This record gives sequence, C-alpha cells and structure tokens, in this order.
Amino acid sequence: MIDRRMRTLFAISLLCLAIPAQAQNAPVDDPVKALVGRLDLEKYKAIIKDLTRFGDRQQGTDRNKAAVDWIVAQLRSYGCTNTERFKYVSDPPPQSQPRTGTVPAPAIASGEIRRGVGGSRLRGMTRPTTVNTNLDAQSDPKLRALNAQPQPTTAGPREQVYCTKVGSRHPDEMYIVGAHMDGQGFGEAADDDGSGTALVMELARIFSSPDVQTDRSIRFVLWNNEEGSHAGSRAYAAQRAPLQGKEDPPGSGRYPEPRWLGMVQHDMVLWDHGMPRADGTVSPEQRPEADVNIEFQSTAKFADQAMKLAFFFRDANEKYATDYPAAVGHHMSNTDSSEFMNLVPAVSLRENERGMEIGAGWNPHYHQATDTYSAYSDKDFRLGLNAAQTTLAAIGQLAGTTLKK
Ligand SMILES: [Zn+2]
Repeated sequence: MIDRRMRTLFAISLLCLAIPAQAQNAPVDDPVKALVGRLDLEKYKAIIKDLTRFGDRQQGTDRNKAAVDWIVAQLRSYGCTNTERFKYVSDPPPQSQPRTGTVPAPAIASGEIRRGVGGSRLRGMTRPTTVNTNLDAQSDPKLRALNAQPQPTTAGPREQVYCTKVGSRHPDEMYIVGAHMDGQGFGEAADDDGSGTALVMELARIFSSPDVQTDRSIRFVLWNNEEGSHAGSRAYAAQRAPLQGKEDPPGSGRYPEPRWLGMVQHDMVLWDHGMPRADGTVSPEQRPEADVNIEFQSTAKFADQAMKLAFFFRDANEKYATDYPAAVGHHMSNTDSSEFMNLVPAVSLRENERGMEIGAGWNPHYHQATDTYSAYSDKDFRLGLNAAQTTLAAIGQLAGTTLKK
C-alpha cells in the first residue's frame, strides 16, 4: 500500500503539473465550456430569491432549520441523490464586547499603516463594519416577523448539508466546494451568503446532470454556523480529516470521505461598487472594473499550493468567464476555508478582498438589515454568476470532466 504522505504528495504534484497543459490546450469540443454554458443568470437569481424566504437564516433558529431542509430537497431534486446531513454541536454565540479605545478616523492618512484582518493593510476611505443585532433596524414588518425568533444563547446540536459527485476513476479523491448558508443582521442574508450558497447549489445541479462524468469526486457543502464561529466547517474538518481516503466497507469501492485535494469557499460574491467616497457614501452602481477576488492565506501550511490553485482559478476565469475578471490576493481570512488551509490547499472567492476592502466597509449591506434581494441589481448578480463560471471551470478541469454524448 502506498504511504499516505506519498499519496498526498502525488496529488499535490499532479495539481501542479497538470495545470499548464490543461490551461493551454482546451480541446475543440470542450466539456468545461459546455458546462459553463449551462449556468444561467435567472436560475442563479431564483435560488438566491428562494433562500431569502428564510430571512437571515441565523444558526440555531427554526428559519435556519427550514432552510437546511429546503436545501436538502433541492439538491435531491437536482439528482444529487446522496445528499447527507452532517451533525455537530454549535459553539455558544459570541458575547458582543463593549468597544474600547478610540474609533479610528475614516480617512487613512498618507503613509499611515492601518492593519486589517488576514495580514491586510487598509487604504483610503473606510467605513465601520458592525453587525446589526437590532431586529427593529429591519423596516419591513414582514421580514421583521420572519426574523423574530432570537438565536439560542447556548450551544446545541446542529445540521449542515453536503452532496457528492462521485468520481468515476478516482472516487477516493475529491475537491470540496463550499459556501455558508447561515447569515445574520435581520435582513435576508442575500449576499452574505445566499449568493455563495446559490453558486454552490447551481454547481451541484450542473455536475449532477446524468450526462456529466468526472474522474475525481466533488463534494458540495453548505456550511452552517459560519457567522460568529465557523463551528460547522471546523467540526467537519476535525471529524472527517482522519477518515480521508478510507474505503468503507473494505472492498466496496465506496469512500465516505475521499482524500481532500483542495477546498474552495464562496462568501459574498455580488457587490463590488468601489471604495467609499470622501463623504462616507458608496456608489449605488457596480463599478465597471468589478472583479472576483480569489484569495489564499500566505501564512497557511499549504500556502504555496494554495497560491498555485488561486492562479489556476484566475486562468479559468480568463478562459471561461463571460464578463468580469478575477484577481488573486494572499490574505484569505474570516471564512470557512480558514478551517482547511492547514490541511489542504484552500482558497476563497469573494466580491472584494476580505481584509482590505470588505474589512474597510466597502459593502454597506454587510451584516445589515439591508442585505436583501432587492438591494442588488443584475450587474451585481452577474458578478456572482462570473464567480460561479470561474469555479465551475476550474473544478471541472481539475476533477477531469467529460460529457457523455
Ligand atoms: Zn459570509
């Protein structure tokens, strides 16, 4: 039997070596291009809209449970028949700390070094980023009623959902494609993270089509409990890492937890309206130069491989995305992929860089009661669709995709 570390090294070297050849020579009859063509703006918007029926989906509430049940039913209806519920225990909700010290000025002075999360450096104009914890901040009475049940104050059992496209040649190896389905702020959590959840569900639908075959497995995961603590993804990584690549039962050809080859998270993919203006307001229009931000974390154990993976995603965007480009950054932070970055190459896709841009208040709906479906235009939704095209194209190539004629 091949040593486990050798197999990991082999998988990583395969990732590194396979990239240039695949990126340069797309076959004329390109299955990846065909699959990207199956993504549709109206379908993508419809899933986000459906998710907003469950309000902000705060973990531990009935509206969150109803959303989990709905996602299960949807994934099964797509033909992802092996949809499973992963059980874990949530963390107690974080206590909000009283703010101490002075509030920094919104404008950063020339030469001033102000740090953001993930190792980032903030620039220019900033706005505060707070979480709305006041139900009354929601002006829509229907939405206020929908979000009225408070989050539990103690830890408890929770569920999150995944389904798996089983690889035809290497069912024992997989890529993990994730987004978090919970939200906060007493809005509809449309961008954070209905936009990422809908993206992952669309990919699950497309890869589950009976005419699609992949060499390697792909797991589509809708994390719960990202907000506040990453409890869902952290529990998954802790419980499942030791089970990787084990055939169970032996001789069955079944691998409940295929070996992880890479992990990609999608967390807020709609809004890129640029830096706040000098008066603290934000442009109501998507900026024409909007892009998808692919980030890895330079301090991660698998930083070098994650960097290669990030640039592979950028190449996939250049080849297959229809409207918006992608940029790579090295300060991935505050999302479920953080729980995987020391175990496997991990990247995240976002509308903006988490540290320097989202962390500087570029999205005024972030964790607010205004994060509702109606806050976004087709230009915003199209940025999310381009993120979907990017991941579908990257994972489609890495997993080895063919279309049955
Ligand atoms: Zn988020």
